[in-house]
Amino acid sequence: MKKKVVIVGGGASGLVCAIRLKQINPNLSVTILEKNDRVGKKILKTGNGRCNLSNLDMKPIYYNCPDFIEKCFNKYSVSDVIAFFNNLGLLIKTDDSTRLYPYSETATSVLDILRRQLGIFDINVKCETMVTKIKKTDKFYIEFGNEQIEADYLVLACGSSAQSNTNGYLLAESLNHKIIEVRPGLVPLKTKENLKSLRGIRVKCLASVIKDNNIIYTESGELLFKDQGISGILTLNLSRYTDVGSKIIFDFAHTADEEKIYDIIESQSSKEALIGILPKMLADKIGKNISQFDANHVLFAIRNYQLIITGTYGFNQAQIALGGVDINEINDYFSSKKINNLFIIGELLDIDGACGGYNLHFAWISGLIAAETIGFEKK
Ligand SMILES: Cc1cc2nc3c(=O)[nH]c(=O)nc-3n(C[C@H](O)[C@H](O)[C@H](O)COP(=O)(O)OP(=O)(O)OC[C@H]3O[C@@H](n4cnc5c(N)ncnc54)[C@H](O)[C@@H]3O)c2cc1C
Repeated sequence: MKKKVVIVGGGASGLVCAIRLKQINPNLSVTILEKNDRVGKKILKTGNGRCNLSNLDMKPIYYNCPDFIEKCFNKYSVSDVIAFFNNLGLLIKTDDSTRLYPYSETATSVLDILRRQLGIFDINVKCETMVTKIKKTDKFYIEFGNEQIEADYLVLACGSSAQSNTNGYLLAESLNHKIIEVRPGLVPLKTKENLKSLRGIRVKCLASVIKDNNIIYTESGELLFKDQGISGILTLNLSRYTDVGSKIIFDFAHTADEEKIYDIIESQSSKEALIGILPKMLADKIGKNISQFDANHVLFAIRNYQLIITGTYGFNQAQIALGGVDINEINDYFSSKKINNLFIIGELLDIDGACGGYNLHFAWISGLIAAETIGFEKK
């Protein structure tokens, strides 16, 4: 009898899991159930349509659970992921940093090569199929609409609530798994201050998140102002460390020569000196905060611009979700410690990474490791 594997969710993790399973054992019956009209829709949105699929600078500290992730990296390295995609026919390149993209610089190439494999291996894909209930006795019984199918192995690959309306958390809960509170991650932040005059301005800076008068996180990068908040990769990465009421302090001169700034301010001796140092609208805004015009006060204002966070822009603008299925209840082969032959992969888990290809990388490796565990019948 052919072993039947059903994968709920045809996104990044589910697709590579299905393909790897068939590479290992073409005799397995593999079915993907996908609620959308097409598989992999989110992949097309990634990296602004370019799909930042991984990163050569891969360290466990870029994730919320470094110990768990390190064990996964020992099983699957970045080169293994690159080799997997090369083997499917995808050419990969880095940008001017360590981020990895398809050579074509379009996410459709990534999805197209994955979809091609679904055809080559004759993987059964049912779209517009939202799984609503799963029962487990000797086998899994998976319900959608008025239909039900059975499986020997079940892989939950439903993704997260970020820009999606998944019920994956409920499905995992119904199978006795605990859900760690889910909230928007890698998300633009709303601020108490009205920033309308700065909308669209991008500026490089060093940002520090303050909690109870202590700096809890610092990162440098590019800040993008919105009407009533902030965005850009820097903000997305800061968002994990902020709550309502958090304070962020921005240093807009962290790479500048302080003495030169002093000279400029003293030689110009007016608030307008700021316009040669910062974008004009930002210079005006900061200038308004300066009570006494001397080099010390000006420099302090440039290096200590404060914003108070009032919330996030929500799941609709989040790239990922924080929280999800408790990783203490799965092992590093992605099988459930609670239910035999249940696997949980991808963003549905309480595992998240920074911006830069780390979330897709995790989706790929969790799908690949789960497939190898099932395919090679590892325990
Ligand atoms: C705008 C945007 C940009 C991003 N850019 C990047 C980037 O450049 N680099 C990066 O590393 N990460 C990026 N991410 C994050 C990355 O896309 C996700 O981490 C990754 O797709 C997670 O893979 P997954 O398989 O867990 O979930 P998904 O890819 O979301 O797949 C889950 C699938 O399950 C389906 N599903 C859910 N519930 C059910 C159900 N009950 N029944 C049937 N099907 C169901 C969904 O429709 C979906 O197709 C970005 C995310 C967004 C939103």
